Amino acid sequence: MTVLLLAACQSAPDRESVTVARQPASWPEAPGPGFARDVVLVTIDTLRADAVGFAGNTQAETPHLDRLAASGWVFERAHGHSVMTLPSHANLLTGQLPFQHGVRDNAGFVLPEGVATAAEAFAGAGFRTAAFVAAFPLDARYGLDRGFEVYDDSYPEGATRGFSVAERSGAEVVAGAIAWWRQHRDERRFLWVHLYEPHAPYEPPEPFAGRFAGAPYLGEVAASDAYVGRLLAEVAPAGAPSNVLVVVTSDHGEALGDHGEDTHGLFAYEATLAVPLLFWSEALEEARVEAPVRHIDVLPTMLEAAGVDGASTPDIAGRSLWRAPAPGTAGAAGSENALTAHNAGATYFEALHTNLQRGWAPLRGVIAPVRSEAGSGGERLLKYVSLPLPELYDLSADAAEARNLRESNPAALAELAALLPAESVWPPAAGAVNEDERRALQSLGYLSSSGGARLPRTYGEQDDPKRLVELDRMIQTYSEAYQDGRLERAEALARALIERRPQMGLGYFSLAQTLLDLGRVEEALRVMIDAERRQLAPLTLQRQLALTLSQVGRHGDAVRLMERHADSRDPDTLNVLGLVLAEAGETVRAREVLQRSLEADGRNPEARQNLALTALHERNWPLGEGEARTALGLNAGLSLAWNYLGIALFNQQRVGDAIGAWQQSLELDPGDLDVLYNLATVAAGAGRPEVAKPALERFVREASAPALSGRYAAEVAAARSLLRGL
Ligand SMILES: [Zn+2]
Repeated sequence: MTVLLLAACQSAPDRESVTVARQPASWPEAPGPGFARDVVLVTIDTLRADAVGFAGNTQAETPHLDRLAASGWVFERAHGHSVMTLPSHANLLTGQLPFQHGVRDNAGFVLPEGVATAAEAFAGAGFRTAAFVAAFPLDARYGLDRGFEVYDDSYPEGATRGFSVAERSGAEVVAGAIAWWRQHRDERRFLWVHLYEPHAPYEPPEPFAGRFAGAPYLGEVAASDAYVGRLLAEVAPAGAPSNVLVVVTSDHGEALGDHGEDTHGLFAYEATLAVPLLFWSEALEEARVEAPVRHIDVLPTMLEAAGVDGASTPDIAGRSLWRAPAPGTAGAAGSENALTAHNAGATYFEALHTNLQRGWAPLRGVIAPVRSEAGSGGERLLKYVSLPLPELYDLSADAAEARNLRESNPAALAELAALLPAESVWPPAAGAVNEDERRALQSLGYLSSSGGARLPRTYGEQDDPKRLVELDRMIQTYSEAYQDGRLERAEALARALIERRPQMGLGYFSLAQTLLDLGRVEEALRVMIDAERRQLAPLTLQRQLALTLSQVGRHGDAVRLMERHADSRDPDTLNVLGLVLAEAGETVRAREVLQRSLEADGRNPEARQNLALTALHERNWPLGEGEARTALGLNAGLSLAWNYLGIALFNQQRVGDAIGAWQQSLELDPGDLDVLYNLATVAAGAGRPEVAKPALERFVREASAPALSGRYAAEVAAARSLLRGL
């Protein structure tokens, strides 16, 4: 029975009433369950639904995706539920909504142990399982690796600067996936391949850079398509029997200026919430489905195609897309549980990143098909956005979301608002925080018992992200300036951020980070200590403060600051605690903490690097050498690991090798004066004036800079004396 959703609305001109629409009865014919032997899921990060040829984009160059679309099922109205990489992939790989599996943003959240995953379901049915991911937001440490026999996340971790993210090319990802696919050709396989090209910054490889000089985002899309082509040549070669189901989607789109947003994460307009979705198998006839479908539907659809029993994934919230939803399942407002509406095709979504990272108002919303009973409106797709300044759009008539209907149709707004599940409320009510949420919030610096940033309790219009678009721009401009090393400009922008929104911890972090790069350590310390005292310090700032305190010799303060996070499971946090403990000479505790960091992420070069430091503090030179080499094996770009290696080698009387290691370190980080001093003095003592002289001269010049306020006075004097003796 269709339930009345909306009583006659006074302000609507035709006094229409609206009901939750049933799904259309027409649906393409699907083969029976279990038609696919193997399943391949391809997620192309940051790929807009309209940035592909098969969606009608004539500028885009996606021949391989278009070939799949031409003989598979294309869902023209597919939505994700999150606009950030980790939560969105968690939705896809669990078939659950973010508030059900608990992963609400990238950093800080880890998929809880009890949540069943796609890989576990396939593995339980006898499939070989493997994932090849391209970027750090999907690192094994966040828990999506559970159930995969192989989880290949081997991009170089640990040496990214500022706001950039460790990633690797789709060429490498696909090569790994193909090798694994061949190894298991006689077995059933579930393979997930993640490509990161379309994510900012847009720097497509040739020949796409040249071909898309004016549209580099589409150049990255074209590059992704080429990598998909290489993968398809192996798993579903044209004209050869393959018996595989290929699923292609993205985790979210990219705003590219829509509603004033450049990238993604701020809003949840269609530019970032709508996703491409296609299923291809030689058993399928070409079809286009206009009915709205969701990311949570992807997993049950894959499982049914492979004939895998759903018993191992009892909490899936989505439904199989091989047939129209069963009649009579339409949920509605006023039902006991608004979640029942989600069985009928309502789409819950959220964008909590700027709430968690900046304290802006949390964004939640719902998309639902509705049917006008009066007039000739027919079926429409409405979208409600819950914010201090709420929004309501008719996606069927207003794809650009340009006309907010909140004034003209308040009753429809209220009815859609009632479809928001109570369980999705954010921030969670006091006392309603479970252990996993507590841990996540604590790891972000919230809910900590002894200081740290706190989420505001209430939000007004001034906290609505629509009112903060300019500030978002300013943050982008700051991060570009910082990333490019334009530090004076970055400093001015960071100060402007603090002035514009003094309650935002990100402003203080940005300023401190810039001052540190400018060598103004004391000023940076004052900024960070001030933010910390006023409980405005997010965890990133607390970590930076601890590292800086340690660097200037305030080891006790550094350890006290980080000890409140001693029960963290976050490798970045444990690495900082381990480092400050090692520098404080507490090497036994340092090693214990760093081992826990390795348990959370075994391929974690910073933990290895800090274990090397710990060994150096114990004067165990061979162990220090070993740990430094292990770190460099995971990421040869770690300048500190090269420095530690140099120290370990020097103390084993391998002076020439030590000089080589320090030279490597300086090539990676020319500004590290400690390494420069090591190199200069050791080369002088070893009779290598050609290395020593320029290094000593540069050290004297740079270490005497006024901003360093005499910190290197003794070393400068020693270097001068060595120079005279050369
Ligand atoms: Zn993403």
